[in-house]
Parts: sequence; structure tokens; C-alpha cells
Amino acid sequence: MSPSDSKRKNPTENIGLVLYEEVGGNCPKCTKPLMSKGKNKKTKLYEIAHIYPNSPHPHEITLLENEERLSDDVDSEDNLIALCRDCHKIFDNPRTIEGYQEMVSIKKELQRISKLKRSWFENSIDAELNDIISDLAKYTGEEQFEELSLEAIKVDVKADDTLSGLLKLKIKTNVRYFYSEIKSKFAELDKATPYTSDSIYCQVKAYNVQLKKAGLNQTQMFSALKDWINNRASCKNTEVAEILVSFFVQNCEVYS
Ligand SMILES: [Zn+2]
Repeated sequence: MSPSDSKRKNPTENIGLVLYEEVGGNCPKCTKPLMSKGKNKKTKLYEIAHIYPNSPHPHEITLLENEERLSDDVDSEDNLIALCRDCHKIFDNPRTIEGYQEMVSIKKELQRISKLKRSWFENSIDAELNDIISDLAKYTGEEQFEELSLEAIKVDVKADDTLSGLLKLKIKTNVRYFYSEIKSKFAELDKATPYTSDSIYCQVKAYNVQLKKAGLNQTQMFSALKDWINNRASCKNTEVAEILVSFFVQNCEVYS
């Protein structure tokens, strides 16, 4: 086999890898792990399913004629999903409108998440934010920070119906206890290197606009910004990332 022949075979394998990665290694229907982990051997337990069937029976064509198609090409990655064998069998036999619609919405959510992950790489955050992250991570609960008055908290004005009540409460609490402290830490960074805070604020604002443009609602945006900080900055602490996103809501980079 010439090297170009072996290259031609690769896309199928690569698409399998991409689809396995897309579902995070678990069946998106039943959460069963899609790779068995033997001592020295891993066995693939997934199958690649066509969401719209690749050679539909006449009754399936009629059944799905008014349904949304994720791609004109049935073999496109957009029309494929990794499933465990059992869920694949149930999905295909018999095909139902409900089953089809459910699989379309599962795939769309997976695509939305993959797109977000790819956007982390394109949107960096200056390393100086790590100074603030490591200070916040040291918080013991004993420190007395200057609290922000309830009247000064802006989230109620900025929130729309898509921001969940519980999340709004969390943002308020974070802003109340941590806003002034973080603001003064940014001021310290600016003393060492002027415009550090402006640079980070601009990066957050730019990513916020991208998420807005992609159609995310406010609850989804909070979660996407938190994941971005967790993964793009050196922040392994979810609570710290949430405190920072809350800070950026109050500081007008987010939801503005
Ligand atoms: Zn399954």
C-alpha cells in the first residue's frame, strides 16, 4: 500500500476519533463508557450511527420528510454520532420521529459544546490574571473584605429571563463579597504594568460578544465563560472561575 493509500483510509478513523471525543467517551443516550479498559488492551464499544439514515426505507423517507436535516450529505460528520451498540439498535429499529428529534437535539448540543471548546484556543487571557486566581484560591473564609452594598450590585438590571434565579443569586453573593477585593487586585497589577486590567477586560468583553453572537443565553454564557477561565487561564478551581465571571458581570464586560 502506498503512503497516499493509507492516508485515504485515515479520514474514517479520524472521524471515529472526533465523534468519540465529541461525546466525551460516553454514550450520549445512556452514559455507558464507549471504550472498555482491559489491562493492556482497550476495546472500542461504540458504533457510528447515521442520524438521518444512510439508505432509508421508503417508509422512513415519508416519516422524516418534514424533519430537520443536519447535513445534505448523510455521511457528513454533522449527520453522525457515536452511540453504544444497544442505543444504536434502539435508535434504528424501529425509527421514530421522537427518536430522530431527540438525536438531532443531542447532536446539536454536542456540536455547540465542541464549538465552544475550539473557541478557547482562539481567545487567550493574559497570564497576569493568574495572580488574582491564585490569591482567590487561598481564601479561607476568615478574611474580611470590603463588602459592596446591595444597591450597587448591577446584575438585576442586566439580567433577562434566561438567567436562572439560582445563578443570579450566586452572582450577587460573589459580587457582594469579592468585587472590591478583585478590583483592588487589578489596580495593583496596573501599578506593576500599566493597562493590564484594561487588556484583560477587553479580552473578556470580546469573548462575551462572541458568545452573544453565537446565540447563547445568559445562563449558558456564564457557564461558557467559567469553562473558558478554567481551561484557558491556570484555574483549576470552579468556584474561583465563577467568582471572576461574577466580577466581570458587575464590571460591565459580561451581559452588557
Ligand atoms: Zn447507550
